[in-house]
Amino acid sequence: MNVLQPPNAFFLVGLIIYFWIRRGFINRTKTEKKIVSRIDAIEKLLLGMVFLAVLLLPLLYLFTPILSVADYYLPWLVRWAGSLILVASLCLFWRSHVDLGQNWSVSLEIRENHELISKGVYRSVRHPMYASIWLWSIAQGMMLQNWLAGWTLLPVFSAMYFIRIPREERLMAETFGDSYHQYSAQTGRVLPRLPKVT
Ligand code: SAH
Repeated sequence: MNVLQPPNAFFLVGLIIYFWIRRGFINRTKTEKKIVSRIDAIEKLLLGMVFLAVLLLPLLYLFTPILSVADYYLPWLVRWAGSLILVASLCLFWRSHVDLGQNWSVSLEIRENHELISKGVYRSVRHPMYASIWLWSIAQGMMLQNWLAGWTLLPVFSAMYFIRIPREERLMAETFGDSYHQYSAQTGRVLPRLPKVT
């Protein structure tokens, strides 16, 4: 079974931590009432596809031979470099959940006492959680020796990112007005803004 190879076992541990972080915040934010929800069919489809690519395909690869037609070889160095990226991704994923706190939600939603967060990792980037999922998508490809389980998440998450970002930023601008415009002017999306050279 693929899960017995050390980088794959490491990946599985990372996956468990990823969902453990998510579950904790789903529970923590359960009582926060939602006053706006923009979860339409496209959003549901994207969420479903990301879920399949982040969880179902890796589990099939790790525990069954079903995807073996798409197996290929990756050097150990690449796989362990992927593990480092996975750890960086998990740290950023956790940190951005902590900084967003009660304002976090899995989709496009505004809660009753929603606050605009601009501290912690949100000080320099507006979408650190999505940045962490980009890192995860790359790490998954570098660690799993299977085209489908490894690399499906990257295009699927890219589609979700590029479709969601304008919607999310519009929702935030509608909710927070000038404060969000100001905040946007000072931050980058997934990478900090470079200081202007004068
Ligand atoms: N795009 C952010 C947050 C993802 S969670 C990131 O990548 O880190 C998605 C929810 O977070 C959205 O529904 C939105 O309501 C909320 N959100 C996004 N940025 C926020 C901010 N700076 N402060 C408060 N809530 C925010």
